[in-house]
Amino acid sequence: MSVKKDPDQKNTDSNLTRHLLESLERAGKRRTAQRSAICEILAAHPGHPTVTDVYNEVRRTFPMISQATVYNTIDTLRELGLIARLDIANHDHTHYEIDTRPHVNVVCRYCENIADVRTDSVDVLFRHAAENSGFEIDRDGGVIVYGVCPNCSARLAATPNDSAPRRLHGAEAR
Ligand SMILES: [Zn+2]
Ligand SMILES: [Zn+2]
Repeated sequence: MSVKKDPDQKNTDSNLTRHLLESLERAGKRRTAQRSAICEILAAHPGHPTVTDVYNEVRRTFPMISQATVYNTIDTLRELGLIARLDIANHDHTHYEIDTRPHVNVVCRYCENIADVRTDSVDVLFRHAAENSGFEIDRDGGVIVYGVCPNCSARLAATPNDSAPRRLHGAEAR
């Protein structure tokens, strides 16, 4: 599913792409056409792609690219704090996202749907957690909350018990 972008958004994306590439260069990673493509895909991605998602997309332009190149580029960007890393319970692969501002990631137990919710409460929550525990809090990606998305909710309601859908993320173990 491709999202139509307005020209302003396109500008934002290409500024972001440039910022990512310049930061990589400062970290000693030479600017290559492949790295440019990876940064472009990340900058324009509205969701929470995995390394494989980015690899599959960049492979359309660079069929010979290795998954290691994609992984290393993403990992360097994460070390630089330019993308957030999201480890979701029972998902086989780590997700990443370009928006590093702490927010709530609402994860569906039944499908791959992850919704972002922006709220100042996350900052308050992190501050309270830090103050009351003495911990330094990882802000990467914000907060992860689990539930059932509206689509799956509707599907579940329409499905009689005898053909119960497969639970994807091990919800029954909780
Ligand atoms: Zn769902
Ligand atoms: Zn998110």
